[in-house]
Amino acid sequence: MPEIVLRNVRPWGGPAVDLRMYGGRITSLFPHDDGDPRSLTGAPDTEFIDGRGLLALPGFVNAHAHLDKSWLGLLWVSYGGEATTEGRIRHEREHRDGLGIPSVATTTTLLTKMIAHGTTAFRSHVDVDLGVGLDGIRSVREAVAGIGAPVGLEIVAFPQDGVLRRPGVLDLLDRAAAEGADHIGGLDPASIDRDPVGQLDALFGIADRRRVGVDIHLHDGGELGAFQYELIIERTRALGMAGRVNVAHGFAIGDVAPARQRALIEAVVDAGITITTVAPVNAPRLLLTELRSAGVVVGLGTDGVRDLWGPYGDGDMLRMATRMAQLAGWRSDADLEAAVRIATSEAAGFVGRSEHDLAVGAAADVVLVDAGNVQEALVEAPARRLVIAGGVIVADCLSSGAVPGE
Ligand SMILES: [Zn+2]
Repeated sequence: MPEIVLRNVRPWGGPAVDLRMYGGRITSLFPHDDGDPRSLTGAPDTEFIDGRGLLALPGFVNAHAHLDKSWLGLLWVSYGGEATTEGRIRHEREHRDGLGIPSVATTTTLLTKMIAHGTTAFRSHVDVDLGVGLDGIRSVREAVAGIGAPVGLEIVAFPQDGVLRRPGVLDLLDRAAAEGADHIGGLDPASIDRDPVGQLDALFGIADRRRVGVDIHLHDGGELGAFQYELIIERTRALGMAGRVNVAHGFAIGDVAPARQRALIEAVVDAGITITTVAPVNAPRLLLTELRSAGVVVGLGTDGVRDLWGPYGDGDMLRMATRMAQLAGWRSDADLEAAVRIATSEAAGFVGRSEHDLAVGAAADVVLVDAGNVQEALVEAPARRLVIAGGVIVADCLSSGAVPGE
């Protein structure tokens, strides 16, 4: 991979700089000056790119994806609409084989689209069940390897069809972890398996033995969901798993009485549990402002994109950030910037990184957009003009035409 010098870009909307990248990392960052020799010299194969003063952001981090499920790239699949989680699981199992899901081809189509939108690192739940076994994980790994750039990837082995009610799934999850999955997933331990203690003990048992994380889909609301939060908090503390447990969706926290909300949030912070949202438009409010001010690390993801669970989604994390900010009622400049940071620099931990930003030493993941500042980028979600993942150009609309407005 040759060195890249990305000249005249504005990180986070600040003054123009030149960014040098090599070996997958940002190696230097200095004020842009056409006369500065650091801006113009390099090895014979160094690639110099004129960033035209565009706004530079770190690559987007999709902290909750389902890269294995989408039918994107196939003819439109009409979705009848199942009202319940159970109905959607059944719908998916009835139709996925006919669509050839999971496969490397469908995953590659979705992945390519998400990368073109500027996402350079993913935490993907991947279905593990008695039908597909571990094939989905293999498909996702192969599709990501086929991109030809060091795209960030963490795999959650996800028992979408339940755990205890499907004998054999626990063995599959254990094998997935043994073969390199980064996290064990789970799904509504109470309403799906009807045995919250049993499911959680089993999942945390594997995670503890295999030294992997836990990342649980928890849709259950109200007291039922709050009770499962408590069980997750207890196990996280008991096993010393602070920083390695995530609750996805976690609607219950916004669905119980205010005093209960505060106590739950405090316990989540104290246990070192993170929360991911996919900014759903028809679910209880997640209390993003309260979570963040209490110190909970919140991640943002797309969830499934055009799959057998629903017809929506285009995989664009910047548009997801816009929706999240609107749903949270955020209007101040600081909050609008926070929405972009949740989708980028603050999400480092969701993809196993200590830092994810436009900084020396960080992964060379850069997105250029035509916007005056971060707030305008969030509100307009302009086209991504250049996307670099791990020092490799993965999407380029810079060289193909003039910057709009010039
Ligand atoms: Zn999900």
